Amino acid sequence: MHMIARIIFIAIASACIPFPGRGGSGPSPHTDYPITPVPFTAVEFTDHFWSRRLDVNRNVTLPCNFTQCENTGRIDNFVFAAGLKQGKYTGYQFNDSDIYKVIEGASYSLLVHPDTALGRTIDSIVVFIAAAQEPDGYLYTPRRLIRPDYSPPGGKERWVGMKDGSHELYTVGHLYEAAAAHYAATGKRSLLDVALRSADLVCSTFGPGRRGEVPDHQEIEIGLCKLYRVTGEEKYLRTAKWFLDQRGNARGHALLGEYAQDDMPILEQEGAEGHAVRAAYMYSGMADVTALSGDGTYVPSLERIWRDVVNRKLYITGGIGAVGRSEGFSRAYALPNFTAYCETCASIALALWSQRMFLLQGDAQYVDVLERVMYNAILSGVSMNGDAFFYPNPLGSFHGAERSRWFACACCPPNVLRFIAGVGGYAYAQRGGDLYVNLFASGRGLIPRPGGDLTVTQETGYPWDGEVSITLEPAHPEEFTVYVRVPGWAAGDPVPGSLYRVLGRAEGSVGLSVNGAPVPSATKNGYAAIRRTWKKGDAIRLVLPMSVQRIIANDSLEDDRGKTALQRGPIVYCLEGVDAPDGHVTDLVIPDSAAITPEFRGDLLNGVTCLRGRAFTAERTLSGEVARGAAREFLAIPYYAWAHRGKCEMTVWPARTTGSALPLPAPTLARRSRVSASRDISTDAANDQLLPGNSSDESVPRMHWWPRKGTTEWIQYDFPGEQTVTRTEVYWFDDTGEGECRVPKSWRVLYRSGGDWVPVTTRVPYAVRKDTLTRVTFEPVRTGSLRIEIELQSNFSAGIYEWNVE
Ligand SMILES: [Zn+2]
Repeated sequence: MHMIARIIFIAIASACIPFPGRGGSGPSPHTDYPITPVPFTAVEFTDHFWSRRLDVNRNVTLPCNFTQCENTGRIDNFVFAAGLKQGKYTGYQFNDSDIYKVIEGASYSLLVHPDTALGRTIDSIVVFIAAAQEPDGYLYTPRRLIRPDYSPPGGKERWVGMKDGSHELYTVGHLYEAAAAHYAATGKRSLLDVALRSADLVCSTFGPGRRGEVPDHQEIEIGLCKLYRVTGEEKYLRTAKWFLDQRGNARGHALLGEYAQDDMPILEQEGAEGHAVRAAYMYSGMADVTALSGDGTYVPSLERIWRDVVNRKLYITGGIGAVGRSEGFSRAYALPNFTAYCETCASIALALWSQRMFLLQGDAQYVDVLERVMYNAILSGVSMNGDAFFYPNPLGSFHGAERSRWFACACCPPNVLRFIAGVGGYAYAQRGGDLYVNLFASGRGLIPRPGGDLTVTQETGYPWDGEVSITLEPAHPEEFTVYVRVPGWAAGDPVPGSLYRVLGRAEGSVGLSVNGAPVPSATKNGYAAIRRTWKKGDAIRLVLPMSVQRIIANDSLEDDRGKTALQRGPIVYCLEGVDAPDGHVTDLVIPDSAAITPEFRGDLLNGVTCLRGRAFTAERTLSGEVARGAAREFLAIPYYAWAHRGKCEMTVWPARTTGSALPLPAPTLARRSRVSASRDISTDAANDQLLPGNSSDESVPRMHWWPRKGTTEWIQYDFPGEQTVTRTEVYWFDDTGEGECRVPKSWRVLYRSGGDWVPVTTRVPYAVRKDTLTRVTFEPVRTGSLRIEIELQSNFSAGIYEWNVE
């Protein structure tokens, strides 16, 4: 149902105040990033790739975000908190933030596509937000709606629930971003005034001599910086910096720990740690404060943490945050593919941080990462129809996955909305009179300059084609430098640092010319610099080599050892079961000698360049060895387009050699049996013949009974007919230190005899071992079904990686 249909439109009389840059009296000039991005409002894409995404974002993703916020009570929470209707708070305590992000994204849309109905929809919601704000500026609907049966962390008391995840400073951070966007789009102060009242309260509550807590989820730092830009009010910047400096300061508050980057001062943090979205929002806030204050204190930390991410903690798709349980960073080089978390929001946060690092440093390595995460990990997070979303974005899957329409914790869908709406803002930037060309897409940029706009027109089939024509039309002939980004991948460096490299020598070379005359394509900081007096119609031609690249990972990255990822241009590829005759791709081996050919397929996935080649399968034999199997044609599609053709296997990292493949399981008795368990859970891991390196190995699938604790559970094999069995072995899952699964208190083996389950007879007691297969031999029984019965430790659950029977 459309918003307007249900919510009564309330006309609001808002003062329309022009915002800076539209001739209004804005804040006095302040220090900012040395490089100024050309706003997305000045950049129009006319290509097939991004212009289609932008249309879908506006026409589908935007209305479906509004509808979902409405249908899931996210707007009613404001209505109830305002006392306009009676009702209960629903959802997570941070649900306010979702509607703020939707308003931010909708405002970006308004800036480019004026839409009266959309403007009214936003206005009507802003009325509820304003009405839900308490007289002193406090705004957090869960606390206004406390009832005997509902209470957010902290109960009635403000600011004390942050240690338990109240997110009350996180939600208003998104309010501030929304308010800045809404004000820029409409000139109306309605939401801005709400944000400023809230920010004034925050600034008078926290700081030296006042409260000393830090936000449990960073975001407000970015929001306060945006309010500072709009108003020039120093206290917003000061408080943003104070929140950052207060992290890890045990004198001011009870530390929230590594998870929230609050275990040590940020100047001492060695690398990326904890929850990935919190972390990358924090680094973005640190960059903003650096730019706005002109104080370079954070720069060494930002550079150090950046190096840690790109050298040790970045997936080839640009995703960050390997671990699902913490939604966070793992240790160095721990980047499992099948269990990769790579939250869509974390990818977006990395893009925000990368762009800020570029604006601070002018180095294209940051744009290389931005481009990688945009085209791969972020786009994977939203369906091509724009109405379904991934929260985690793994790099491999045995059973496939499906994007969801929405989530109870719905941070990702509105984040996709606001990111894509502003994607044009990453294409160009200026320093002094010089121009940076960072992204390639057909379209036009109007670069604001003192002597009149410079029009830059790109024509290209990027990302499928490497030829880019860039035509400049300055208002009058003018001498300046055009910095053309030469992507790292074009020179065989997929990412800055040593984490990934191209196998073999990079094929093809970069070509650069102006008006047909070659110019040096040698780069400094990743840019080819062309200085000359530019006049109307001058054309730069950039030719990027679009050979298929085999990427291999640093040997320390165990999960990718002996494997290769395929890339062409900025696009990372994957293989999907739907393109394989037997539905399997995880067992494929693509030898280094195999020719791989690109092929544009207009009929597939909205038109994509696929990769074709010959591979072979790897199969496990009954004796446990891995052998070369049948030859296979393979088709690789862009990773972002996976999971659009039904649930099926997927892998980004096929093997290069038989020995490093994930072979198809051998037809063992366990494999040929039907599996069931005492809980309705996926039991696929039990007989997949994938053994972990240890009992807490993240990279290998396991099954578990969590959240059940202290109970007695079972798992059962129904054999294909009666069998004589005498031995079984189990590999137990135990995530001590991370989760709530432990090896069991005890276990035993039962077989079915008639209608009864009878314990087998063993000569030695059952052992329970970690990090290895625990084997038990028993007197032979002839039966159709075997069970293991597992007594869970009290207060803990249990799980298994593998269960074999002989
Ligand atoms: Zn998210």
